[in-house]
Amino acid sequence: MTERHAGSCLCGAVRIEVEGPLPGPDACHCTMCRKISGHFLASTDVQKEAVRVLGEEHVGWFQSSEKVRRGFCTRCGSTLFWDPIHKDTIAVAMGVFDPPTGTRLHRHIFVADKGDYYDITDELPQSPD
Ligand SMILES: [Zn+2]
Repeated sequence: MTERHAGSCLCGAVRIEVEGPLPGPDACHCTMCRKISGHFLASTDVQKEAVRVLGEEHVGWFQSSEKVRRGFCTRCGSTLFWDPIHKDTIAVAMGVFDPPTGTRLHRHIFVADKGDYYDITDELPQSPD
């Protein structure tokens, strides 16, 4: 049987299933991810065709740049997706998934834009952008 990971937004109106293992998530510290997530955004990049969304009518989209839109639950506001619209992958927010996720945070990106109120103290690789 294929590995499958499921989860939901906080209120449960949106359920998400991903077929296959979850690749090592990035923690993105860019200003946009910090604003939309409330801290920084850990997400895993998966093929769009591997993602199934139940309650899709509750997913709202915010076009945060020309090439990227961000998905959230219109009922509870949970951060769900970072979607580079012209690519065949989509980043799913790690907060969505029920345990066990079977994966581990794998690196920090855009650390040059990180907040001034915390330090990154793990040993994971860091990229300034
Ligand atoms: Zn919700």
